Amino acid sequence: MSARSTVTGGGAGAEHIPVAGQWRAGTGESLRSVDPATGELIATVAAAGVGDVDEAARNGAEVAAEPSWREMLPHRRARFLARAADLIERDRDELALLQTRDTGKPLAEARALVDSAAGAFRFYASVLETSQGVVTPPRGQHLAMSVHEPVGVIGAITPWNSPIASDAQKLAPALAAGNAVLLKPAEATPLVSLALARLLDESGLPPGLVSVLPGPGSVVGDAIVRHPAVGKVSFTGGTATGRAIGRIAADKVMPVTTELGGKSPTIVCADADIDQAVAGVLFGIFSSSGQSCVAGSRIFVHADIYEEFTARLVAAARTLRVGPGTDPATQVGPLATVEHRDRVAAMVDRARDEGAIVLCGGQAPSEPALSRGAYYLPTLLAGLANDAKTCQEEIFGPVGVLLPFSGEEELVAAANNTVYGLACGIWTRDYRTAWRLARRVEAGTVWINTYKQFSIATPFSGTKASGVGVEKGTDGIKAYMRQKSVYFGLDPDPIPWAAR
Ligand code: NAD
Repeated sequence: MSARSTVTGGGAGAEHIPVAGQWRAGTGESLRSVDPATGELIATVAAAGVGDVDEAARNGAEVAAEPSWREMLPHRRARFLARAADLIERDRDELALLQTRDTGKPLAEARALVDSAAGAFRFYASVLETSQGVVTPPRGQHLAMSVHEPVGVIGAITPWNSPIASDAQKLAPALAAGNAVLLKPAEATPLVSLALARLLDESGLPPGLVSVLPGPGSVVGDAIVRHPAVGKVSFTGGTATGRAIGRIAADKVMPVTTELGGKSPTIVCADADIDQAVAGVLFGIFSSSGQSCVAGSRIFVHADIYEEFTARLVAAARTLRVGPGTDPATQVGPLATVEHRDRVAAMVDRARDEGAIVLCGGQAPSEPALSRGAYYLPTLLAGLANDAKTCQEEIFGPVGVLLPFSGEEELVAAANNTVYGLACGIWTRDYRTAWRLARRVEAGTVWINTYKQFSIATPFSGTKASGVGVEKGTDGIKAYMRQKSVYFGLDPDPIPWAAR
């Protein structure tokens, strides 16, 4: 069985989903997956309902508690993860094409995300094999150690912008930690998550350990978060949704990891290598059509180079090739849905009302060949203050705002004047400036003379309204475990207080 069996084409029967160890039609309303490059229906998915969540959660709890899984030796459990990585690599092209058709992403980006998914499984296989408990220093007649144990059932809820990578980033450490997982992909992009589940089946993981439950967030996602058997939720998505999940988690006294929105500053200093900065700023805001939590959407440019840099950036943005993700020449694909494209267009209209000057873009492309897709031209705006709504609210599309600055104090205050704290880019030749700014800007990740580079080995997190908790890195596995301390008494005599 391969990822292929997941794409049925629009005319075939609705896609089945894996619930509690069985591929079957979910009991929810069907979802339609549409290719945003053409508007064509790719597949219909027989999505999950609340009853499916309940069944998957109860069954997941049972399977995760089975000694054959819970007590499986780490090097044996690691084999499933390594096998999953091999299978993802085997089906790399199919998975990438599926993700491109579902999300609109250019194929090169989709391939990189598939590689990152395989990398996540391979990395957590190694982390699992090399994880160790700790013997803590004794302060009495005992030997004490700290161990980590699986939570049981994890709710993993992901957005539509990079499904296979977001899914793997949660599935791999959660499975490595010994849990069952209920994966809830976004409404618009369930296909690649289903394909991934087929590969996990093929890897030999116990049936029922992973259920994939596509459906409306407010129904299926909410049911996962509230389910008593779910002991931890790892959520990636918008800040409003993250807050709602956090409130439910507080009532359940359940840990959550939330990776949320951003409005990240990218800072071009007067001494920056302009060629590098132009290329990096363009990549930071326009790759993935700006549908990236870390998009460098507020572009702070030193006043001394503002005119020159802006002219070069605008000229370069105008040359970006907009088109279907399946065309190898495409740099900027369509947005994920027509509805989302219309939301982005409305935010640019609002920017105009706020007094923005549109330097390029600001509309859908006029080519007839693109008229049925969810396209929007790379857009650069100027003439706004940092406190304008356009500079404060996440647009999640190919829209950047240029903001001149003169002094470092003014820059740092403006860069931090946002509810978000996800990422930051700094373009300078001076390592002292880079270091100072990197430490002063409130962000989970700072890139210096580069942007949007990731490693599964490097922790990822947001601060402020960009989220709580950390994903990736060797400690990423512990985010899906409970810590327990165990004391062995060594004193041959009874405890004196009781024995007196
Ligand atoms: P979203 O919050 O609308 O949806 C994300 C997921 O949550 C979807 O699967 C959705 O169905 C589900 N959901 C919605 N309401 C829910 C509820 N009440 N309970 C449980 N689940 C619910 O976000 P989106 O529009 O799909 O994604 C875009 C957002 O994701 C942006 O804000 C972006 O910045 C953010 N994002 C963050 C990161 C990060 O790592 N920080 C990465 C990618 C995307």
